[in-house]
Amino acid sequence: MIVADRVCKNFGALQVLKGVSLEVGRGEVLCVIGPSGSGKSTFLRCINHLEQVNAGRLYVDGELVGYQEKNGKLYELHPREAARQRREIGMVFQHFNLFPHRTVLENVIEAPTQVKKLRKAEAVTRAQELLDRVGLAEKANAYPAQLSGGQQQRVAIARALAMDPKLMLFDEPTSALDPELVGEVLAVMRELAQSGMTMVVVTHEMGFAREVADKLVFMDAGVIVEAGAPRDLLANPKHERTQAFLSRLL
Ligand code: ADP
Ligand code: MG
Repeated sequence: MIVADRVCKNFGALQVLKGVSLEVGRGEVLCVIGPSGSGKSTFLRCINHLEQVNAGRLYVDGELVGYQEKNGKLYELHPREAARQRREIGMVFQHFNLFPHRTVLENVIEAPTQVKKLRKAEAVTRAQELLDRVGLAEKANAYPAQLSGGQQQRVAIARALAMDPKLMLFDEPTSALDPELVGEVLAVMRELAQSGMTMVVVTHEMGFAREVADKLVFMDAGVIVEAGAPRDLLANPKHERTQAFLSRLL
């Protein structure tokens, strides 16, 4: 589902991604850990067209992200095509980013009706199914401010799923939550993983990474320092930077 081949991204003189290569298979869950500033969010943002890769190749589901290749040369993708690629990817952020003046249901049907031009009745039926799936069927008519952080994040997940994405990206989805609310969000993500969704999750929840991820990657300073099966990497980190990072978390 994802192939990153020596992906580089810089902001002016600042090199943020320095040749990131990895693969995520269909239905796999990749967890990404690493210190603040290491480029984790930038990598997710490149996958989701929020940033443009400067060098290297990034593919999602066999398609080059943001570019078109012709006779060995790269051309920027037409905005309409880039928008189509982005619609197939769901993203969940640390700070839920719900529309504050819309109800939960209105938040979930917004993109399907506005972007996909789904009929409202159809979008509402689907939204209700998704709210049920994340355990919030009874909150459909509430406003975001009336919900806990954990509930808001579950709405954000339902909203992303409403576009039927083939890939879901999570950028520290539980980092802004009170500790007692983390579990309910992770439970929804775990169920999503078990349903076969391909997911990339930037997280510091090592229990989740150990139990749910197929692959774990440790990033530092714009490179992948170490990658492997979560249990191996967590129990037996080989690189001293990984060891130092993990020991600080415990
Ligand atoms: P992480 O998610 O691992 O904490 P980020 O990907 O957010 O790291 O950031 C990596 C580096 O890139 C940081 O030094 C950050 O300040 C810088 N950065 C991120 N976005 C921008 C931007 N739009 N312009 C300039 N620098 C940026
Ligand atoms: Mg980040």
